[in-house]
Amino acid sequence: MTVILGGGISGLSAAYYALNDARLSSVILLEASNRLGGWIRSRRSPSGAVFEQGPRTVRTAGSAGENTLNLVEDLQLSDKLIHIGLHHPAAGKRLIYMGEVLHFLPNSIGSFFKTWSLLDRPLINRIWTDLRAPKVSKEDESVHSFVQRRLGRDIADNLIGPMICGICAGDAREISVNFLLKSLFEAEQEHGSIVKGLLAKRLKGLFSKSDDKKADAAKKDDVDNGVAARPLTLAEKARKERLMLWGLRGGLEQLPQALADNVKRRGAKIQTGKRCEKLTFQSDRVELSVNGEPQECSRVISSLCAKDLAELLREQHPGLSAELRAIPTVTVGVVNLEFQGNVLPLQAFGFLVPPKENLPLLGVLFDSCIFPESSTVLTVMMGGAWFEKYFGANPSEERLLTTAINHTKSILQIDEEPVAHNVAVLKDCIPQHVVGHNARVKRIHDYISAHRIPLALCGSSYQGVGLNDVILSAKQAVRDVK
Ligand SMILES: Cc1cc2nc3c(=O)[nH]c(=O)nc-3n(C[C@H](O)[C@H](O)[C@H](O)COP(=O)(O)OP(=O)(O)OC[C@H]3O[C@@H](n4cnc5c(N)ncnc54)[C@H](O)[C@@H]3O)c2cc1C
Repeated sequence: MTVILGGGISGLSAAYYALNDARLSSVILLEASNRLGGWIRSRRSPSGAVFEQGPRTVRTAGSAGENTLNLVEDLQLSDKLIHIGLHHPAAGKRLIYMGEVLHFLPNSIGSFFKTWSLLDRPLINRIWTDLRAPKVSKEDESVHSFVQRRLGRDIADNLIGPMICGICAGDAREISVNFLLKSLFEAEQEHGSIVKGLLAKRLKGLFSKSDDKKADAAKKDDVDNGVAARPLTLAEKARKERLMLWGLRGGLEQLPQALADNVKRRGAKIQTGKRCEKLTFQSDRVELSVNGEPQECSRVISSLCAKDLAELLREQHPGLSAELRAIPTVTVGVVNLEFQGNVLPLQAFGFLVPPKENLPLLGVLFDSCIFPESSTVLTVMMGGAWFEKYFGANPSEERLLTTAINHTKSILQIDEEPVAHNVAVLKDCIPQHVVGHNARVKRIHDYISAHRIPLALCGSSYQGVGLNDVILSAKQAVRDVK
């Protein structure tokens, strides 16, 4: 029997993939809380507008994006997909709030040649900055330090700082470049500069197209030209129509709900209100303590946040537990606001705030521009790596709400009061992949395999925090588990 810990999107995905694997015949999923979905939670305002408390959009790019679209298609959610392509009114319009002004991010080739309000010099000049900057050999460093060295302090402060707030609510001075911008970091380490490294990679790609890649490219051309004999898959359509992001009409929570229905129908047992408190690995079985009661299984797939898993292993594997505990997390305050009618001064995806502005806001998403509603819906994200600095250990909902409303109204020059709101403190919701992360994750996997522990890991603590990353990590965990 295989036990999956956690009923968020990665635990449910692990159950979905485990049921396709003949080795893992019987599957039980244990979820500590009374609901499934984890951080994915779609609520409704009294007027029916969707308030996404967690994620709302999913990227289409890469094999991980394609994998999620295949899953969505299999779960028969394709009809509910809201596509966000290149020409979506909000897609290319992202803003940075700096110096009390909203600045547009560059979204065309032309803007690379312009002097631009957020930066000291045009972006194109940074090619020379990068080519001239000396190579510094390192195992890893922070994203901020790397970008500052190679491209300039203004880019690190005004673009990368807020970008990291948007990706993981984190501090660019702590997040690992070897994890988050691996290909840029490797370009410097191998070729002495980002530009030289990327050019070398491109040239190598052009001359070393394997037969497989050529066949793939030919297949993709067929799809692009619409000559494929069968109907296009959702992932192929997304590629053909150059979609960048998608969401679900009615809320993203339908994804974990559909997954749960699917795996239950196929025989998985899902038990909510069941907290695993301890894991002990014996030579022929795994002993679990669940709500104080003993239970047994053959193997465990954990989708828990590394910190939570660390507690379960503390007694039997203190070294492994310490490594898991060292992957930190941040807390985010989320406030959804609804205003009557259209109160926004412009259509956009939203804005991010550079940490150096010393504001409690990480950014504001313009939900009703991304997914049209009859009212204005905004989501204010606050705190992250600076949560305690701005809000202390235990702030009241009232305080979060007032902070969100005051800043949002002032920045967007909105006079009206919101007609509905939702406030949530998402404690320890986003793991931080800090400097040294890759090496730590390797040590964790090496330990598990050296000790032949029938445990596989998935979820946002290891391979990335995006939904595509965690779903793919679940697929991988099912392959890995012994
Ligand atoms: C505010 C916010 C916005 C985001 N926006 C986006 C976005 O727009 N796009 C995107 O791609 N990603 C986004 N993300 C990231 C994405 O939502 C998460 O990475 C993903 O939902 C994590 O899913 P998970 O299943 O790995 O973990 P979780 O959702 O944390 O699930 C873990 C589950 O384990 C349960 N659990 C914990 N301890 C135990 C135990 N001892 N025993 C049993 N069960 C236990 C928990 O109750 C929980 O249900 C966002 C995240 C947040 C917080």
